[in-house]
Amino acid sequence: MIHVTKAYLPNVDKYKSYVDRIFQSGFITNRGELLQELEEKLKLFFGVKHLILVANGTLALQISYRALGLKGEVITSPFSFVATANSIKWENLDLVFADIDKNTFNINPDIINSKITSKTSAIVPVHVYGNPCDIDTIQKIADDYNLKVIYDAAHAFGVNYRGKSILQYGDISTLSFHATKLFHTIEGGAIITNNDDIARKVRLLINFGISGPLTIESIGINAKMNEFEAAMGLCVLDDIEDIMQNRSQIWERYVDKLSSHVTFQEWNVNSNNNYAYAPVVFESEDELLRVEQKLNKMSVFPRRYFYPSLDTLTYLQNGESNDIARDVASRVMCLPQYAGLFTEQQDEIIQAIVNTL
Ligand SMILES: *Cc1c(COP(=O)(O)O)cnc(C)c1O
Repeated sequence: MIHVTKAYLPNVDKYKSYVDRIFQSGFITNRGELLQELEEKLKLFFGVKHLILVANGTLALQISYRALGLKGEVITSPFSFVATANSIKWENLDLVFADIDKNTFNINPDIINSKITSKTSAIVPVHVYGNPCDIDTIQKIADDYNLKVIYDAAHAFGVNYRGKSILQYGDISTLSFHATKLFHTIEGGAIITNNDDIARKVRLLINFGISGPLTIESIGINAKMNEFEAAMGLCVLDDIEDIMQNRSQIWERYVDKLSSHVTFQEWNVNSNNNYAYAPVVFESEDELLRVEQKLNKMSVFPRRYFYPSLDTLTYLQNGESNDIARDVASRVMCLPQYAGLFTEQQDEIIQAIVNTL
């Protein structure tokens, strides 16, 4: 069976040597040695000032809203993984969707503008499939209306924009290190900011609000990453260049062989692709379903990321329809894309798609 992705497993002996270190120290969680080592390495890798490791990418979003003291309405994209919208709703904020651009699949700044009211406190754009949003325009809107920007950068590990990490932009960027992501720590995530005050608040919030052995300073929750997860991150980080290189070849092959049959996402010209996903758009949902059926028969299981459009979910709905997101969601499918997918397997997938169309 071939799925849309496969969790990357590093060299097992390397992982075991980290596990030995954990057993020797006896320190298995609570800001241990390996977590600190991973934080330092990732900070250097991205060239960012603060990077705080957390238990997962969903808590990274929720804690970011708390750290920035968001209130009222928050504008986000209906074309994302459900955690983006759920995290806003979970924090009792009013969720407002702004439709996407039909070529980049990212939130459309003109539509953000039209959704701003006196109650708006923030924008949560998503770099969909790792493709950088229209960062300059979004920042201008945020400055004009005094709004916070939290980028859900769950897909954007290793993406640079105008020569620096995409994570440098906005008040906060968040990452997910779930097993299915390009870089992972089994479960995990990170909060990235250049602001000292925000970083301090985040560190309090992820650890029950505890600031010292005898001091509890504020409300907080438990969103800590443990040492076994940090060990996985250290192993995967060593291999990340190879992982991305392998994925880039898979990506190039899809583009090369499928460009005349399907549409690809329009990538931001000021940045690099990280090959986290291989989304293709079909002419119609019917066409997509026929391809999916054909692939399933071969035991190949691509995923309809992101279907359905989040503005169709009854518990998130406010009666407005985001027509472009709904249209793209009905026709887009992510093809198998992971380090270790063999060329012969990929060619069979490509051939099946071409034959069906
Ligand atoms: C994966 C993902 C998340 C959630 O991350 P978890 O680590 O699984 O909690 C949030 N937003 C987007 C866009 C994602 O793809």
